[in-house]
Amino acid sequence: MTVPIAKLSFWGVRGSTPTVDPATWRYGGNTPCLELIAPDGTQIILDCGTGLRMLGSRWAAPNGGKTPETHILVTHYHWDHIQGIPFFSPLYVENNEFHFYSFRSKFLGRDSLKQVFEAQMALPYFPVDMSAMSAKRKFKEVDGGESFMVGQNRITARWLNHPQGCLGFRIETPAGTMAYATDNEPGDAKLDESLAELAAGADIFINDAQFTPEQLETTRKGWGHSSWLEGAKMARQAGAKTLVLFHHDPDSTDRMVDSILRQAREEFDSVFAASEGMVVTLGAPGDRVQAHMPGTRTALRREAHFHAKVCGVTEGGKDFEEETVVRDISLQGALISLKHMPRLQSELQVTMEAPGADGVQSMNLRGYVVRIDTGTEKGHVAVGVVFTD
Ligand SMILES: [Zn+2]
Ligand SMILES: [Zn+2]
Repeated sequence: MTVPIAKLSFWGVRGSTPTVDPATWRYGGNTPCLELIAPDGTQIILDCGTGLRMLGSRWAAPNGGKTPETHILVTHYHWDHIQGIPFFSPLYVENNEFHFYSFRSKFLGRDSLKQVFEAQMALPYFPVDMSAMSAKRKFKEVDGGESFMVGQNRITARWLNHPQGCLGFRIETPAGTMAYATDNEPGDAKLDESLAELAAGADIFINDAQFTPEQLETTRKGWGHSSWLEGAKMARQAGAKTLVLFHHDPDSTDRMVDSILRQAREEFDSVFAASEGMVVTLGAPGDRVQAHMPGTRTALRREAHFHAKVCGVTEGGKDFEEETVVRDISLQGALISLKHMPRLQSELQVTMEAPGADGVQSMNLRGYVVRIDTGTEKGHVAVGVVFTD
């Protein structure tokens, strides 16, 4: 019997507005869009931020083409959650069928999401009109408190505390449960309770972590967002297993998100910072949650042979130090073969011996673990690092 596995991909993780600042490339600049492939092959997309365009460009028909249906849950109508819609190429293909789920906004009335589509594509905002969108589209209104089945998966919606409203979604699949709670601010007892219900015992709890705890208490109070600290507290209270920090502030550089993640890991055991291209597997044998990061996005790799000393932290949280040879390096990072398994999204000190004009010199680099794969050498793992300075 095969074990049920669900695959969750992060196509956009940035909050408020996309960023193209080079200091934000590592976590990524596209706005919210997630894709869940449930064990029964059901494809569920969460939010339609600019990350949706990327998903469209790598489009594969769900269930190997057996069912052309895709289910899209939209949490609310702020720009960063709908902006990818006109740029989602599968909407322009006749054979595709999309089921959209979202709430009735008091500002838009009946068929709120349908109106959003029409408004986004109205002249003079977009060059192509609605008639070009030939895919079948069905719109369903959902309200906080509702629960329904899609395939073998139960979806539950709950209201979250956010200006003009926002829905959080809990998806229970045979492989495990994920809770998606973007755009929410703690402090409203009733809505805090709905957040706790969404996150209760979830294998993955994705929570808004846009602001620092200090900002949340002072200058950003009432803006509708949360912090890593509130996420960690809720994860503990609700008994969630893994916390994913999400909706990074457009002003947060990669180094700032690194620091946010470091602090969160001191408060809660299993935490990741959502990163564009990250894939989380639910229900994999031996491990409830597995995370994989995208490969380094560079063609500038060169084969090399540098002796190096590497210091870091293992998956189990212990410091380690080992000597190795770096055989694959680029201007941005390297692939290093190690006996130790470093923690994903942790820092490594890499000291390499480089031949210089006055003999061998050592070069100190700070690497950040973005990928761990089975190594080609026996008993080794291949560790992808990005050099941060
Ligand atoms: Zn947002
Ligand atoms: Zn919002």
